[in-house]
Amino acid sequence: MFERLLPNLRVNSVYEIDLDELSSRGVRGIITDLDNTLVGAKEPLATPELVSWLDHVSSLGFKVVIVSNNNKTRVGNFAAPLGIPFIHAARKPIQRAFRKALAIMDLPADQTVMLGDQMMTDVLGGNRMGLYTILVAPVAPADEGKMTLVNRFIERFVLTILRKRGLWYEEEKK
Ligand SMILES: [Mg+2]
Repeated sequence: MFERLLPNLRVNSVYEIDLDELSSRGVRGIITDLDNTLVGAKEPLATPELVSWLDHVSSLGFKVVIVSNNNKTRVGNFAAPLGIPFIHAARKPIQRAFRKALAIMDLPADQTVMLGDQMMTDVLGGNRMGLYTILVAPVAPADEGKMTLVNRFIERFVLTILRKRGLWYEEEKK
């Protein structure tokens, strides 16, 4: 079961993602987590850097949906100024919100990637759905909520097992 927590790719931030490569592989849609994936969990709005990244993403023809376990106020206030559709209180890793996001984009799972900073929610949910999963290093690890801290505890346990099985390579330091 631990293999289900393994992302297809790991990056230090969304800005590292090779969008042209995704596009050339036929990827047309991006489902993304919000907190600590796009901005820090306590950052209410998109940063200018994120806004221009999102502009670039849509100029390449990708559709984007934000899928967050956070509440409507948080996710709505963040997504509305960007004009990006969102699903709040998603209860990832449950598949329902992922299905809904694919329906919003009108895309199949094999043309869609999942971006997120958590293995227990974003990666597990994305993998179960058949999405290509990209694990992003958390933007502001110090600002995580209680539930996330529990998930991080489980992540550390899972990582120990994955390392023992040789399934987790150590990150290259930049
Ligand atoms: Mg997150």
